[in-house]
Amino acid sequence: MARINDNFLKLKAGYLFPEIARRVTAFNEANPEAAKRLIRCGIGDVTEPLPEACRKAMHDAVDELGDASTFKGYGPEQGYAFLREAIVENQYAGLGIAADEVFISDGSKCDTGNILDIFGHDNVIAITDPVYPVYVDTNVMAGNTGDADEKGAFAGLVYLPCTPENGFVPAIPDRKVDLVYLCYPNNPTGATATRAQLEAWVAYARANKAIIFYDAAYEAFIQDPALPRSIFEIEGARECAMEFRSFSKNGGFTGVRCAYIVIPKTLKGYSADGSEQAIHPLWSRRHSTKFNGASYPVQKGAAAVFSEEGKKQVAALIEGYMGNAKLLREACTAAGLPVFGGVNAPYVWVGCPDGLSSWDMFDKMLHEANVVITPGSGFGAAGEGYFRISAFNTRANVEEVCRRIRSTFG
Ligand SMILES: *Cc1c(COP(=O)(O)O)cnc(C)c1O
Repeated sequence: MARINDNFLKLKAGYLFPEIARRVTAFNEANPEAAKRLIRCGIGDVTEPLPEACRKAMHDAVDELGDASTFKGYGPEQGYAFLREAIVENQYAGLGIAADEVFISDGSKCDTGNILDIFGHDNVIAITDPVYPVYVDTNVMAGNTGDADEKGAFAGLVYLPCTPENGFVPAIPDRKVDLVYLCYPNNPTGATATRAQLEAWVAYARANKAIIFYDAAYEAFIQDPALPRSIFEIEGARECAMEFRSFSKNGGFTGVRCAYIVIPKTLKGYSADGSEQAIHPLWSRRHSTKFNGASYPVQKGAAAVFSEEGKKQVAALIEGYMGNAKLLREACTAAGLPVFGGVNAPYVWVGCPDGLSSWDMFDKMLHEANVVITPGSGFGAAGEGYFRISAFNTRANVEEVCRRIRSTFG
């Protein structure tokens, strides 16, 4: 009898994006004419083509693989030195991070899930509410939670509410937790964390021997020079944090796949007998056993993000998306809706009007404006009463969405 991992049965069947897809398909079938004018601002995927510098580097790398004298087979599991060095030089200059503290992978989604392999099952785990659903579901799969209640909250997880009152950055918990996921700039709220807020979290983590999983996938969208771009800008973070970054949102690599984790050698966890253990060798062992390295052309393409040309092209992509975010913010504000985010992040987080629930608002936008948004409640109970609009779209689509928001709520 082949036994399954029963934890998978605890997962919520009506996961957010399948439910959105179901409602959109039903709408399209019932309204074939309106379906033609549908604009999707739901899933957080980039829309603009890959930077030319990255494409050229990937073409060249493929040609190298096509020549016996430059052919490469398996690369280093941790990633090629050229990419790890470029990351440290361009993203962590002056922060005391070494190239061998960077682990290249094929995505932050996998990294944030896979990291649980090297942690025990009796940790108290804190997540923000609302939250990127991957953090929750991977903990459920790993057996780190109990069952979900009728609201979708899993027993055993510590939910940290993020609200307008706390600027969508959670208060320091009044109890001890062992692992905490923080994501800034945030998906879905578009909020950012200040230096003082991160300092408080680092102090808490060090006092409690906890580890912060810092997801900085949206670092490139930060406009305000006063905001920290990395947790390692905070003194003491090398002792209590690891950082996840991805080329998905800055370089438009959602379909190409390349990301990395930074794990300082000074980061420690504890074994069953209470002895201190470095995290870096554990992840190194895990990564090299279950992963054979990101593809060579992809790593070449990722390194090109840091070339002179690449930097300019990425900056132009970010500027375009942030221009979209500004237009969306203005349209929602003019419609009288409470607007958050969208200033240092590509997501605009909007309060629903007239006491509508998130899913009511989703249906209203779908049926009346023919625009697909993401219901806030899909990211957690504290997201109820909000919706997320993604700035990842063409300018023409965003301008049209703004017109429709104005005419629907004007
Ligand atoms: C998009 C995103 C990532 C990046 O995921 P990849 O697997 O690298 O594409 C990571 N974290 C969050 C919160 C995201 O929204």
